Amino acid sequence: MIPSVLPTYSRAPLHFVKGEGSWLIEEDGRRFLDLGSGIAVNVLGHANPKLVAALTEQANKVWHLSNLYEIPEQKALADKLVENTFADTVFFTNSGTEACELAVKMARKYHYEAGADRTEILTFHGAFHGRSSAAIAAVNTEKMVKGFGPLLPGFKQLPFGDIEAVRAAMSDKTCAVMIEPVQGEGGINVATDEFLKTLRAFCDETGTLLIFDEVQCGVARTGRLFAHEWAGVTPDIMMVAKGIGGGFPLGAVLATEKAAAGMTAGTHGSTYGGNPLGCAVGLAVMETVTDPDFLAQVNRKASLFRQKLEGLVATHPGVFAEVRGQGLMLGLKCVAPNADVVKAGYEAEVITVPAADNVIRLLPPLTITEDEIAEAIARLDHAAIAVAAG
Ligand SMILES: *Cc1c(COP(=O)(O)O)cnc(C)c1O
Repeated sequence: MIPSVLPTYSRAPLHFVKGEGSWLIEEDGRRFLDLGSGIAVNVLGHANPKLVAALTEQANKVWHLSNLYEIPEQKALADKLVENTFADTVFFTNSGTEACELAVKMARKYHYEAGADRTEILTFHGAFHGRSSAAIAAVNTEKMVKGFGPLLPGFKQLPFGDIEAVRAAMSDKTCAVMIEPVQGEGGINVATDEFLKTLRAFCDETGTLLIFDEVQCGVARTGRLFAHEWAGVTPDIMMVAKGIGGGFPLGAVLATEKAAAGMTAGTHGSTYGGNPLGCAVGLAVMETVTDPDFLAQVNRKASLFRQKLEGLVATHPGVFAEVRGQGLMLGLKCVAPNADVVKAGYEAEVITVPAADNVIRLLPPLTITEDEIAEAIARLDHAAIAVAAG
């Protein structure tokens, strides 16, 4: 009999009933160190008092308002995002995949309004943009699309980091280039500054829009507010979700005035997108992560974590091959099957997240302490010993 919850996930038999900072507490009382953060979502840890206060305060005022009316919390969060990024304007969604939908629509509409027949969007191998029909067509791997056709046309996948392939693929039909500055699901692959700069230059030369998907790598995860800041280039359109709500479902599309020009009244909408609860929490997240002291701490902790992880890899060459990533978006490329390492982590009461390319992801709350980093290494060490022992 089919389970009452549609079985599209193979779930670990863990029942977390409470979260506190970097910790998740199992029904049976065990305390797990959370290096997953719900996949880069709980950026300020579980039950962060500032976020709890923002949510409950808003819950006592008003939960939902239609976008037919002004929503002050939405305006405040949009202002904050505009103030701190390349963007001139923001549309709020409830998830990353909805942000992908709008990014695709916006890019195509931009060229349509300019009278150009430019609809093809270039994406990259190893990418992940969500699970909507547009987002799976963008990636077009067998695993994602098999049985779900006909697919939305107009996407072409290229090798990640291959500038010559981008040059060769660009034509007068090219609408946009869409890329994660740091691939998450693909195995924590960091695009080089050079690659992102060259993409920006190609897009400028050809009038192509550059879309960054910062759903996973954004919101201070890499030690800058957004990952592309490391490369010193900005996109025309950016997708955000995961961390921005700190655990409340919230996403956004940020855009320049020029790129957003086609999105006039009636061209897009969302019932829940930009609701007062999500935006009140998002504003509290943004107030915290834009603080230079907060970002400096993320960077300090990231280098400490990375250094200790290098030691772990050196100690367990039969289990781990290398450390990759940027800031607190870290990956351990495994020699042993990554699923075994994640499972051994559960036994050692530490949570990691598998990714493609036999990688395990370490995406702790950005509020993780130095003591917790030391504890994480101790638990990963236990897990590695268990894996090595078979
Ligand atoms: C998770 C993710 C998405 C999809 O976000 P959802 O909120 O699950 O729809 C899109 N892009 C990237 C890079 C992601 O990591």
